Amino acid sequence: MPKKKSDAPQTYEFKAELKQLLHLIVHSLYTQPEIFMRELVSNASDALNKVRFMQLTDQNILDPQRELKIKIEVDSKKHSFAIEDTGVGMTHDELIENIGTVAKSGTLQYLEQIQKEGKKIDADIIGKFGVGFYSVFMVTDEVSVETRHASPDSKAYLWKSDGKGTFSISEIIRPQRGTRISFTLKDEYKEFAEEYRVKSIIQKYSNFINFPIFIGKERVNSLEALWRKSKDELKEDELTEFYKFIANDYDPPLGHLHLSLEGSVNFKALLFVPSKAPYDIFNEIREKSLHLYANRVFVQDNATELLPEYLRFIRGVVDTEDLPLNISRQVTQDSPVMVKIRNVLTTRILDLFENWTNNDTGKYEKFYKNFGHIFKLGVNTDFINKDKIIKLLRFETTSKSKGELTSLDNYISRMPESQKEIYYLTGESREIAERNPKLEYFRKHNLEVLLLVDPIDIFIIPSIYEYEKKKFQSIEKADLKLEKKDKAIEGEALEENLLKSLLTVFKETLGDKIEDVTASDRLVDSPATLVIGKEGLEPQVEKFMKMMNQEVKPQKKILEINPSHPLIKNLSRLNLGNSQDPLLRQSIMQIYESALLIDGNLENPTEFVSRMVEILITATK
Ligand code: ADP
Ligand code: MG
Repeated sequence: MPKKKSDAPQTYEFKAELKQLLHLIVHSLYTQPEIFMRELVSNASDALNKVRFMQLTDQNILDPQRELKIKIEVDSKKHSFAIEDTGVGMTHDELIENIGTVAKSGTLQYLEQIQKEGKKIDADIIGKFGVGFYSVFMVTDEVSVETRHASPDSKAYLWKSDGKGTFSISEIIRPQRGTRISFTLKDEYKEFAEEYRVKSIIQKYSNFINFPIFIGKERVNSLEALWRKSKDELKEDELTEFYKFIANDYDPPLGHLHLSLEGSVNFKALLFVPSKAPYDIFNEIREKSLHLYANRVFVQDNATELLPEYLRFIRGVVDTEDLPLNISRQVTQDSPVMVKIRNVLTTRILDLFENWTNNDTGKYEKFYKNFGHIFKLGVNTDFINKDKIIKLLRFETTSKSKGELTSLDNYISRMPESQKEIYYLTGESREIAERNPKLEYFRKHNLEVLLLVDPIDIFIIPSIYEYEKKKFQSIEKADLKLEKKDKAIEGEALEENLLKSLLTVFKETLGDKIEDVTASDRLVDSPATLVIGKEGLEPQVEKFMKMMNQEVKPQKKILEINPSHPLIKNLSRLNLGNSQDPLLRQSIMQIYESALLIDGNLENPTEFVSRMVEILITATK
């Protein structure tokens, strides 16, 4: 028992959010209770890394001679468990901040959302949210944390909690720096007080921890920097465990890359591609990214400068001899060494992906489905590697079924000689895109159209502009040029002067609702469709801007009508009789609004339906 100073302990309430979070953790993690050990060891190792870094950057610390290590003590009779490190420790404020609050706001909402969706909250999820410390409450009813920060004038504290509503902090006497976490195991988890059990778990999860771990008197880990081993020395399961440890993931990685470079830049790296995207990839709650070591000494755990933004899902370690040990964060950011390493890493990762596309397409598709929407932004930002990235892009397309993606090279290889452009259509989903009447012409003429169903796609197409000398052409735009129609397929079209007169009536009726009315080349089965003028925004961009609450001028469209369609021919007949015929005017409005409806832009269905009723009454008289 730690010696207390005379003051009474002070009690604090957990933040409301944390209470619920703890409840969720304790009641949903029971399938893997042993993970608490991994979390505690990982925190101890973080704390040791921090103190070592302080030492190397010439900061004054308490007990500078003390060995950096982790010690675990168990007592199978008393069912007790304790883990102690000689790391950085915590100040009073840090105790409250780090283990009395949820570090990142929003964590609880995410967890609840996941639970609502019926997914299980398992260890996998907990790890990703970085709430590891609280996992101890799965196996115990009360935890004591004794800690003293590594600054020479620090005080020591005891933090105690049952993980339900409150925690208390009191000052204690503790001469040495570091943290000791101790508790009595719940009856059903007393196995974790058995030395052999603890040893096997630690060996499984923590063999590559850079600091010695002792259980009782015995040292149980081997202390080797995995990335310094040669390729054939590395074992698959070692790699997997290492990945899980540094990436905070519970699934094995999709693939890895082991690099050892000597020459103009010197470093070793072990990089991993995760197999699944985090739950909220755009606001990743935690950005762990790459761990940076200088000459085997840990420097920082999110060296974001080492990778371009579009590869930020890569996890791993980089260890370089080219940086001084006492490097500060500011210096790493501007260092030319970092830029060199980043360039090498980027090319090697792109090469790895290319290798997958040639030798393991299943793996590549899995990667692309998880990370494609981040990765493809590289087209806009990485001018040096742009061509490589474009080759790695994949799209849904009309010639394949849903989920089967195509590359641009493959699309081009299927193009008939007469086709000069790469056709694409955007849509919120494959299903919506496929219903678009603008596809009719392409279907009838066996022309393949890329279906851009990822909202990001529309932002990268302008940067690609053309591929293999073939321009990208939206089939929703008015400037699309198609081969003259084939009468055998489309049937006889309206005569020129009849068409002209009918177009005038259309324009009169629709007034300033539209930019223009023209005859269409792209329709086969539908009477009309709305297309975007030359200057108009793609519908997906428009939706996206609205979603971002950006002001978008109402986009006027061009109505294209199909001069071969029986309905249009009938209207022309009505027009010949009396251009003011109310049925003609009603039908024109109805055709226009039907086109809006198909595009998902009809704002007033009531009017649409009552007009339809009137037309039906006339038709059934
Ligand atoms: P994470 O490790 O992902 O930050 P945890 O819930 O595991 O999340 O830990 C929360 C925080 O508590 C840590 O970030 C650290 O600041 C602090 N902490 C936990 N254990 C220790 C320890 N042994 N020594 C010093 N600080 C610790
Ligand atoms: Mg942790």
